[in-house]
Amino acid sequence: MIKIIVVGNGMVGFKFCEKFISKSGQEKYQITVFGEEPRRAYDRVHLSEYFAGKTADDLSMSTANWYEENNIILNTSELITDIHKESKTITTHLEKTHSYDYLVLATGSSAFVPPIEGVEKEGVFVYRTIEDLDAIMAYAKKIKANGSTEAAVLGGGLLGLEAAKAVRDLGLNPHVVEFAPRLMPRQLDKGASNMLQSKIEALNIGIHLNKSTQYIAGKDAITGMMFEGDHLLKVDMLVISAGIKPRDELGKGAGLEVGVRGGIVVNNKMQTSDPNIFAIGEVALYNHMIYGLVAPGYEMADVAAEQIIGSDKLMRETIDMSTQLKLIGVEVASFGDPFIENEEVTAIVFENKFNGTYKRINVTKDGKTLLGGILVGDSSDYNGLFQIYSNAMALPPNPEDLILGSRGGEGSTLGNAMDLPDTAVICSCENVTKGAICCSITDGTCETMGDVVKLTKATSGCGGCKPMVVDLVKAAQKSIGKEVKESICEHFHYTRQELFDIVKINKYTNFYEVVDHHGNGDGCEVCKPVVASIFSSIYNDTANKHVTTQDTNDRYLANIQRNGTYSVVPRIAGGEITPEKLVVIGEVAKQFGLYTKITGAQRLDLFGATLNDLPAIWKILIDNGFESGHAYGKSLRAVKSCVGNAWCRYGMDDSTTFAIELENRYKGIRSPHKLKGGVSACIRECAEARGKDFGVIAVEGGWNLYICGNGGANPKHAVLLAETIDKETVFKYMDRFLMYYVRTAGPLVRTSTWLEKLDGGLDYLKEVIIHDRIGICEALEAEMQSLIGTYECEWKQVLEKPRLMKRFSHFVNSDDKDDNIEYVPIRDQHMPKSWNF
Ligand SMILES: Cc1cc2nc3c(=O)[nH]c(=O)nc-3n(C[C@H](O)[C@H](O)[C@H](O)COP(=O)(O)OP(=O)(O)OC[C@H]3O[C@@H](n4cnc5c(N)ncnc54)[C@H](O)[C@@H]3O)c2cc1C
Ligand code: SF4
Ligand code: SF4
Repeated sequence: MIKIIVVGNGMVGFKFCEKFISKSGQEKYQITVFGEEPRRAYDRVHLSEYFAGKTADDLSMSTANWYEENNIILNTSELITDIHKESKTITTHLEKTHSYDYLVLATGSSAFVPPIEGVEKEGVFVYRTIEDLDAIMAYAKKIKANGSTEAAVLGGGLLGLEAAKAVRDLGLNPHVVEFAPRLMPRQLDKGASNMLQSKIEALNIGIHLNKSTQYIAGKDAITGMMFEGDHLLKVDMLVISAGIKPRDELGKGAGLEVGVRGGIVVNNKMQTSDPNIFAIGEVALYNHMIYGLVAPGYEMADVAAEQIIGSDKLMRETIDMSTQLKLIGVEVASFGDPFIENEEVTAIVFENKFNGTYKRINVTKDGKTLLGGILVGDSSDYNGLFQIYSNAMALPPNPEDLILGSRGGEGSTLGNAMDLPDTAVICSCENVTKGAICCSITDGTCETMGDVVKLTKATSGCGGCKPMVVDLVKAAQKSIGKEVKESICEHFHYTRQELFDIVKINKYTNFYEVVDHHGNGDGCEVCKPVVASIFSSIYNDTANKHVTTQDTNDRYLANIQRNGTYSVVPRIAGGEITPEKLVVIGEVAKQFGLYTKITGAQRLDLFGATLNDLPAIWKILIDNGFESGHAYGKSLRAVKSCVGNAWCRYGMDDSTTFAIELENRYKGIRSPHKLKGGVSACIRECAEARGKDFGVIAVEGGWNLYICGNGGANPKHAVLLAETIDKETVFKYMDRFLMYYVRTAGPLVRTSTWLEKLDGGLDYLKEVIIHDRIGICEALEAEMQSLIGTYECEWKQVLEKPRLMKRFSHFVNSDDKDDNIEYVPIRDQHMPKSWNF
């Protein structure tokens, strides 16, 4: 037997064993593992969950019998003290000697403790092992019993912020002390750090940047931290989380080459300066770097295993340090080169101080390549951006769409996971490609998401790739004809239709009731707006009622445009407007310098408004009889009409009046996607009614009602639902049709796609809403009736309530406007300057 000794039984040491035994030819080897800690390897990445009640067993990377079952000898609580290269032996602290053919050093790192006077005092801890956490918990309990409330964390990096959350969960007030001028200096720029800081401070966690600690105050136990400038921060506990220090002492002692600032030097085979000794994980210095993340450690483990077994697999030249995390409830992500700045690169930054999001992408000057970026407050775009970056995929014509969304378009600009090449790495921690995930389903090896995770290990590292893996598994299942349940997101295992019924039956009125009783976690940017829209569809709640769970356009009751300005779109039902109202629009546009355009929906849009100006603009409009046109909402936009029989000699009926009636009947009602309507007074179809979600066309003896059409990216002609019906019947069928769609469609599904997916298609729909086959017509009509007539203009509500007005301020602490907006002329008007590439 060839003997391999692994020193260190942490995450990477374990991964080495796991990888090694999965390789063919491993039968000739005997692995013996030594770990200083008293237990089998556990998941350090999720260490903080120990505070939330997880046990050491829950965090274990394997079952209790795993080592034995795989013929691996595990020695816990045994420290290796020396390596004797010449005799190929090691000695343990029990003074036992073992020989090896190959030695794998996976000794990780310890917490770096800066040489500050007094760090040895009672009440000062590090945050690395389960034992550290036990000690922190016991001490917190003790000082709380004595009435202490304040504790500090030294280090505002990723681990420091995680430690601050732990301290807060223990019932103490944390203060984060950072030497650098910003938080997470390795991942975030100043703007992102400011945003993170304001979000964290809002949770009553003190942030102290630019602080150099002179000494730890207190006699035997800590009572405070003295900063430069004689400023004392009174605290009774300190958790040091100021970086890591590779545990290279064994290597040093054995004369292996080590880096100037620590770490055992390895080549791309993971070999140290002694070819029989390998180093992997946080102790290994590869390309002059220590990588403090699991993903590179796992790759190193695989390379070392392959090399020992005889293959020529090498470590990649560049290691990706992209990360996506949730710190103290705040989503933070960075990828690629987050800071890159030179004349070849343009940084596009979107900052929304109201909801605390900061997004930055770094793009080449020609707008073609994504080089890196930062997301704070909302990292839902991370997976898509990371794939575009790592696969060097083409960017959309306006790269800013990647972080602003398609603004009124039909879906995400980040594309579909299925569009990625098979070689795209989806799970970086376990190096699992799209091809491996999809094939495991299509070739029949796996049936469910659980099977895929078990087989490929995707999602089992940091878990950031989970949404994408779920999408791929669903798409692969669909491709082989398996029925897939369209859960809204990872927080709810329900379809939108099921959630609609849950909210209605239980009469829920706020998001947290729903997620607490029927979901998990805190919700996300996907499920929150869906639930807010369901409340609106059931209770006619306006977007002012659930402001924090709405998406951006609904929060500001306006569509955000390029360069951060907003559009103002008053309702002009049926396209009919008086000369007086036309004048008002002209006056408003002049007063606020807005660009004016007549749109395809027969309305007048005013563009280029700043956030601060929105309330003043709307005040004038509302005082003059206008109301919100809901151009921003997933609700009825407009009902277009031709001039009808009042003016046109072909007109068979009064299309304008009908359009106005329809628009006023359904205005404000929230739906799974936007809705558009049209009314033409003869089959010449000047209002293009059959290109809308609903269209009515006057014919001899009545009206024809068409449904489920749309223009946009995938145009669809509407289909005939009922012929030659009177107005009352049009309203009746429309009430039923719209309510049935609102109840049953998935989030962001237009009526045409909904009908396409509906089992039985148009025939079935006719059975349901015309012939009442499933006996729900009365209920559908009653539900719609409860919404009609309860309409309130959202902008009027805002102007009447100062509390609601607060969000229309660009700066949280000042009424000043965003003076970064520059304007350029466009014909006889002007418009905000776009980003230039
Ligand atoms: C709180 C926390 C949160 C984290 N969050 C993330 C995250 O979100 N994402 C991410 O990618 N990474 C995260 N990390 C970092 C990640 O945990 C490490 O990169 C990973 O654990 C490194 O694995 P390792 O095996 O190299 O080292 P370790 O996990 O440190 O394991 C080394 C083991 O070797 C033992 N050992 C050392 N010397 C000897 C010796 N001479 N004899 C015997 N045994 C010895 C040690 O006791 C230890 O058990 C986090 C770390 C912490 C502490
Ligand atoms: S068609 Fe014009 S207005 Fe509509 S989404 Fe595209 S660019 Fe914007
Ligand atoms: S649709 Fe018919 S009635 Fe209406 S404007 Fe056109 S031609 Fe005239």
